[in-house]
Amino acid sequence: MQPFTYSRPATLDEAFHLAQAPGAALMAGGTTMVDLMRGDLAAPSGIVDIGHLDELAAFDTSGAVLRFDALARMAEVAEDAVLLRDYPALAESLQLAASPQIRNAATVGGNLLQRTRCFYFRDGVSACNKRVPGSGCAALDGVTREMALFGTSERCIATYPGDWGYALAAFDTSIEIRSVAGTRTIPFTELHVAYGDDPAKETTLQPGEVITAILVQATPAGRRSTYIKVRDRQSYAYAVVSAAVALEMDGDTVRHARVSLGGVATKPWRSQAAEAALAGVTLNEQTALAAGHAAFVGAQPRGENAFKIELGARAVARAALVASRRI
Ligand code: SF4
Repeated sequence: MQPFTYSRPATLDEAFHLAQAPGAALMAGGTTMVDLMRGDLAAPSGIVDIGHLDELAAFDTSGAVLRFDALARMAEVAEDAVLLRDYPALAESLQLAASPQIRNAATVGGNLLQRTRCFYFRDGVSACNKRVPGSGCAALDGVTREMALFGTSERCIATYPGDWGYALAAFDTSIEIRSVAGTRTIPFTELHVAYGDDPAKETTLQPGEVITAILVQATPAGRRSTYIKVRDRQSYAYAVVSAAVALEMDGDTVRHARVSLGGVATKPWRSQAAEAALAGVTLNEQTALAAGHAAFVGAQPRGENAFKIELGARAVARAALVASRRI
């Protein structure tokens, strides 16, 4: 790990000022940044610690727009009574993420900026266009079990790893972003980019910008929602595949559906194909599985990760059935 300076500003404005220094980086809960620095995957010359700032630590789930300030802790948001009752998919995505210790420290804003768990990226020595642009991609001809089916390119096939982001993609979510130039709000779908030609570019955040809040439009579909995560062990593991589903129902018939996929794409991946397959159908095991299969039309498996297509389809089907039974 390279030497770095550490500062602990008293206000967000002071933090923005300190973050203007060349090589400086803002740090919230630190669960990602410290990890990256220890692995020599990030080497800021200065850390500006904003994790303690109360001015960005609140959240409010009572209004027409749910607001989660960026520094709210994952564990606290996951236990919110309104979220548990009215938006279980969001609460479950937080409950199933990481470990209790990490959820106590990690923030809902920082969580969205996790970097891929691709082991070729993390090992520090393999060819990796994300770590060293232009160096190649060891995963293309390597072990592909964990890799993505959607949003890939011949330069990178790594998955985006965040459960919270996967679930937010199933709702009308916006991201509030602030810099010294002011505040802007973008749809959540525009925060992350598929890796395409430039795997090192993962988000549309500009230098000096920080996520200040996550905004979710209230919806009656939240009550009939769930997040299903399939992983290699029962705790502290990333999703092999996952699905978030939110439904509005007329009896047994789906009036409106929102579906997103996790563990299978280079960014949180909304599946409008699955939503279309669910809309207007009487929900049962067959129609739910058909929607699951619709979600994976166009998937691009590579080597060992083809199993994710059927597993993912079944995760979507199970999520749809579980969500439909909620009141
Ligand atoms: Fe690097 Fe992406 Fe290839 Fe993994 S898949 S080695 S992150 S370029």
